[in-house]
Amino acid sequence: MPVSTYKILIDGKWISSESGETYSRVNPANYSEVIGKFQQGNEKDVNKAVDAAEDAFEKWREVPPPKRGEILLKVAQLLKENKEELSRVMTREMGKVLAETRGDVQEAIDICEYMAGEGRRLFGRTTTSELPNKFSMTVRLPLGPVACITPWNFPIAIPAWKLSAALISGNTVVFKPSSDTPLCAIKFVEILEKAGLPKGVVNLVTGPGETVGTRLVKHKKIRAVSFTGHKDTGTQILKEAGIGKRVGLELGSKNPIIVMDDADLRLALDGVLWGAFGTCGQRCTAASRVIVHKKVEQKFERMLVERTKKLRLGNGLNPKTDVGPLVNKKAQEKVTKYIEIGEHEGAKLCCGGKTPKLKGWFVEPTVFTNASSDMKIFQDEIFGPVVSLTEAGNLDEAIDLANAVEYGLSSSIYTNNIQNIMKAVKYLEFGLTYVNASTIGSEVHLPFGGAKASGNGFKEAGWTGINLFTEEKTVYIDYSGKLQRAQIDIE
Ligand code: NAD
Repeated sequence: MPVSTYKILIDGKWISSESGETYSRVNPANYSEVIGKFQQGNEKDVNKAVDAAEDAFEKWREVPPPKRGEILLKVAQLLKENKEELSRVMTREMGKVLAETRGDVQEAIDICEYMAGEGRRLFGRTTTSELPNKFSMTVRLPLGPVACITPWNFPIAIPAWKLSAALISGNTVVFKPSSDTPLCAIKFVEILEKAGLPKGVVNLVTGPGETVGTRLVKHKKIRAVSFTGHKDTGTQILKEAGIGKRVGLELGSKNPIIVMDDADLRLALDGVLWGAFGTCGQRCTAASRVIVHKKVEQKFERMLVERTKKLRLGNGLNPKTDVGPLVNKKAQEKVTKYIEIGEHEGAKLCCGGKTPKLKGWFVEPTVFTNASSDMKIFQDEIFGPVVSLTEAGNLDEAIDLANAVEYGLSSSIYTNNIQNIMKAVKYLEFGLTYVNASTIGSEVHLPFGGAKASGNGFKEAGWTGINLFTEEKTVYIDYSGKLQRAQIDIE
């Protein structure tokens, strides 16, 4: 089959990069299958894209938010109509199984519908004044051109989270997707165009993070950067963005599931399998640590190993596949290295750990036990199908272990005891806590984001999703007709 060459979108035109170069992306489940050739964007492309976004901002900001919402509703409609095709493209491009790529597209549909409604809210507040005949309120205003930089593991859902919030707020966008999932990004942007988004309002530049991403982050006209990706990249972006630019960071994590001695172990087992091996463990909310009460540790370990061994690796398009490939060779090497480290550190490898001889970047679902909190496999985000078990004597110890990492995105506890539940809600230092459910499963109408090194306080989705993208301006209207001095003329 001939391989298509795809373009970048600047000011409503699909064009080649100024670099004159392209790169190929292959199917991670079968690396002899080329998905397409994509533009190797560069700094000049970014400059043009930012200029287009700046020009388009003047008109887009004047479009009433409910009208902007109508376009997002149309986007949701088109995503629904194309859900199956998009899901298949996604599975071929980044590997996760079809049921999960369908979920990814569904999440995009949900957030577009939710953010469309935000067009009729965008709430500010009104409040009182300490002075007579003076009115006080806040209003939300757009910022201008913003950058959305996204990873590959949710290649339509994460762009949709960011772009829908940016657009409903009245900003224009330069979108830089991961180089591993350019086709999903292009398909999503084509839908934005079809839905009637005016030219220049969203511009798409594919290409390396070090050039395209860095130029965007440093660009003086970019007013906010919304970034999801690795902690180290986020740290660099925060430094490079400089003053006068908002930076919203959604970073990695090392998420724990606590299994108490009173838990329904079969339910907990389903949660651990889904949390650890869904998306081949490549989720920011993946459950990579299981902290088990010592009374049930051995039983739970046996149950987990038995089920893990039955998971079927393969191409995500095959309905019999449970776990797809890792995204690329580098990821496979990283995960394999961590399995070696785990064994070297003295954790016990109970099952998995091998790389099957297939033409894709697979690693077997892997379970370690006897992981202690000083081990790298306990501390580091592995981002692969590797889960480790650690024993705890009681809930306090389990919570201390859960918190003993630098990250804080998602956490979970399995227990049927209300005191345990409330203690976990109060003391787990994570942006999300699930009770009797896995670490995965956010819904778009609630805030999403991490504590500690998993983020920097800006939360996406829900009513918080617009905060990064709006200036909540404070307005005082004094209609007394005389000089009134706050804090002074208060008699
Ligand atoms: P990554 O940091 O390597 O890349 C993310 C994006 O940043 C890509 O588009 C990349 O090209 C770009 N980039 C790379 N270097 C850059 C630079 N110097 N300046 C600007 N942009 C740059 O991450 P990844 O491998 O694509 O994604 C995996 C990571 O993302 C994991 O750590 C995962 O936990 C995290 N993640 C977090 C969330 C969340 O919501 N918290 C969600 C999904 C993934």
